[in-house]
Amino acid sequence: MEPITGKTLTDQELLRYSRHIMLPELDIEGQQRLKAAKVLIVGLGGLGCPVAMYLAAAGVGELLLMDFDQVELTNLQRQIAYNQSAIGKPKAEALAETLRGMNSDCVATPIVEKASQDNLLQWITTADLVIDATDNFAVRFAINTACVQAMCPLVSGAAIGLQGQVTVFDSRQPASPCYRCLYSPEGEDQLRCAETGVLGPMVGLVGTIQAIEAIKVITGIGEPLLGKLLLVDGKVMEFRTIKMAADPACPVCADSC
Ligand SMILES: [Zn+2]
Repeated sequence: MEPITGKTLTDQELLRYSRHIMLPELDIEGQQRLKAAKVLIVGLGGLGCPVAMYLAAAGVGELLLMDFDQVELTNLQRQIAYNQSAIGKPKAEALAETLRGMNSDCVATPIVEKASQDNLLQWITTADLVIDATDNFAVRFAINTACVQAMCPLVSGAAIGLQGQVTVFDSRQPASPCYRCLYSPEGEDQLRCAETGVLGPMVGLVGTIQAIEAIKVITGIGEPLLGKLLLVDGKVMEFRTIKMAADPACPVCADSC
């Protein structure tokens, strides 16, 4: 995996991130890579809020925050970055404001746009990593296609009810499957939180795991969930990991495999 070239840390940053730097596998070098990293988060709901907050707190240099929705009262049960006073504001702008208050070193750029094949590719080519935190299958497929085209790693998460799942795709790795290897646009029931409900902390849990995976991919520490799908069953609190292989006939990634 191509490591991100780090950026030098100031004395203030060495202090601020000291609990990271103490970790032997992360160290100053890992923190420097976080500072140099630019992450695009698509979907700023229950998953996007904790991902963005943890990545901003962790010292990621730049976050691109993409969502065209506005904060609604029904979001506040799980979308923990928003205050009641944010109701009616675009999520991307409200979240950027929250993140700036948490860490002024992190450049938070709001993108109040509906994700489409065209604008996704444009933003993804400028990013080192993408987080799929959407709840819409069409957008998930579009993000996947753009990430494969741009050879950009993708941390994908989903939650519904008391169930969650997380995985990492990385087109730079020859054996990595992509989202389209696993799911077909025709075969999916379009279940969304809006119709079926979700337990608030479940999206928090899944989003937090996405943040951990993102930090691992950026810094090169540990083993990301590459070729593995983590399934979380909140009802019995069971974590399972299943292996996934690339589909040699995948219409999106087969040529690059
Ligand atoms: Zn594929």
